[in-house]
This record gives sequence, C-alpha cells and structure tokens, in this order.
Amino acid sequence: MADGIQIPGFVNAHSHAFQRALRGRTEGADFWAWRDLMLDLARGQTPGHVRTEYAAVYREMRDAGYTAVGEFHYLGHREAQAALEAGAEAGVELVLLYVAYGRGGLDRFRQASVADYLHQLEELRAGGARVGVAPHSVRACPRDWLEELGRYAAAEGLPLHVHADEQPREIEECVAEHGLRPIELLAETGCLTPLTTIVHATHADGRELDLLGQACARVCACPTTEANLGDGFLPVERLLHRGIGLCIGSDSNVRIDPLEELRELDGIARRQAGRRDVLTVDALLSMGADEGAASLGLETWPEIEIDVSHPQLRGVDEPLCALVASCTADVVR
Ligand SMILES: [Zn+2]
Repeated sequence: MADGIQIPGFVNAHSHAFQRALRGRTEGADFWAWRDLMLDLARGQTPGHVRTEYAAVYREMRDAGYTAVGEFHYLGHREAQAALEAGAEAGVELVLLYVAYGRGGLDRFRQASVADYLHQLEELRAGGARVGVAPHSVRACPRDWLEELGRYAAAEGLPLHVHADEQPREIEECVAEHGLRPIELLAETGCLTPLTTIVHATHADGRELDLLGQACARVCACPTTEANLGDGFLPVERLLHRGIGLCIGSDSNVRIDPLEELRELDGIARRQAGRRDVLTVDALLSMGADEGAASLGLETWPEIEIDVSHPQLRGVDEPLCALVASCTADVVR
C-alpha cells in the first residue's frame, strides 16, 4: 500500500497487565502508596478477571503496535493460564515470564520452594506456553533460589528476566544482606548470561554495568513507568558505551505507546549527554523491536503498518525519523 510502511512490530518486553487499572489513582502520592494500592489490586485478582481484563489490555497493546508481549506474572498458576488465553484472544505473541517469589509480598505470590516453582513452570511449558524464568528480584528470591533458577534457565536455554536496581532502598538492603549490589549478586549466582534481561537497572553503578557488558546481558527500560513512579534516570550512554543491549517495556501500563517509551528513552539520553546524537533512529527502532524479541527468545513476531497519510505524518520527508521524534501510536494501522 502506497500510504503505508511495513516495519517490525514493537515488542513489549515487560508488562504487568493488571496494573493498567491503577492509572490516575495514586497521582500525588509516593512510590510506597502506589505499591500499597498495587498490592490491594493484586490480592483481588481471579482467573476470570485476568482473562477478561488482560485481553482488553493486550488489545490496546496490539492497537498501539506491540505485537509481542512479555508478561511478568506473579499472580499465581491458574491466573497464568488465564493470561495466556487472554494473549491468544487479543492476537499478541505472549511470553509468560513466570515469576519465582520466595519471600515477602503477598501469600499468593509465593511458591513453597524453588522445586515447587519449577514444577509449575514445567506444567506451563508442557501445555505449550512460551515461558521465561523470572526471579522477581533479589529481595523476593534468596540466594539459593537464584542459584537454582540461573542453573535451570541456562540448562534449558530459557530467557531469564529479573527486576534490579529500580529504587535505592532495594540496593541498600541487598548490600546489607549479601555485601553485594543486586547485579553483583546476580552475577555470583549464575543469573547473568546472554539470555538475561535486567528490568530497570536505573541505579546500576559502573561495576554493575561492567558485569552486564561482560555477560552480554540486556536491560529493559520502562521509561514512562519509571517517570511516573519517580524511579530515576537510566544511564543510557553508559550502557551504550559498554555495548549493553536495550529493550523497552510498558511495565505498569500507565501508558501503552511504544513510540512514547522510545521518545522518553531518547529524551533521557539527550538531556544527560547535552547532545542530540546519542541514539540513532535505527538504534531506537531496534530497541523497540529486535532487542525486545531477542530478550524474550522470539525469532518471529508480526509486522505492523504505519499510516503515512495520517495527519501526524503529513508533509514529512523522513517518516521513520518523524515517527520516533513526534508521533503517537495513533499512526499504527
Ligand atoms: Zn515490573
């Protein structure tokens, strides 16, 4: 079609679909007030609710140009099945990043043992689900769990996703418990490999970034959520200098728009560097698609079409450049 451009679909490497319901509800309060409300919401989820609500959220993602989604799921085993069905109904490639949760949080998040977790994961795989291993965080998984999960993911060739270095308090607690920062602990426990994606890494220090680079691990940035929660700024240029791959996630789903995630990421990089040429358009589009797919272990995922006759692209000579610089997801057909 003359007024359309085909490009790879965007890949959302980190979503908690149920958190879409929180948008607008704790504005003006701090991170911890947001977390309390999030836990209340998590407590009340049922398989039926997940099936209906997630399908609606995944349809929004599909309409915004995300054709593959990594759902970081910690709401239980039956709800995981419901999430998979919702993804299929909405027509997104869903990778279930099934979360291991050893301590803290709500009762419903936790498995009795790491063996129990792996048993549940094996059941989901046996049912045909595409999965990844997802220790929730160094806070929620003790050291022996991390060692076992790292070993399993490597042996099975599965993606391993883990939250790390989002908030300073989590780092202080990890240092107090282990004498190591979160990404150092992940390296020591065998959880840093080319199949690893660190979600956030907002406050990673130079030594942690070196470890990521050496391991060829990736970082998933969730810029609109990190902005909304006041997490901080991803050290974009320092990641790039080490050749660390970057992908994007909509995380809390405060916004569902891959172009906004990429533009926010680019804006952070430009403001930090005081320059406009930190990230090329090709690099940004690759972060929005190929890097996310690699992070989820996907080799194929659907393309999308950009409507170049849309008013947002009227009179534009370089539509792909304008896409990232100035468009919303409304230009996706
Ligand atoms: Zn998350």
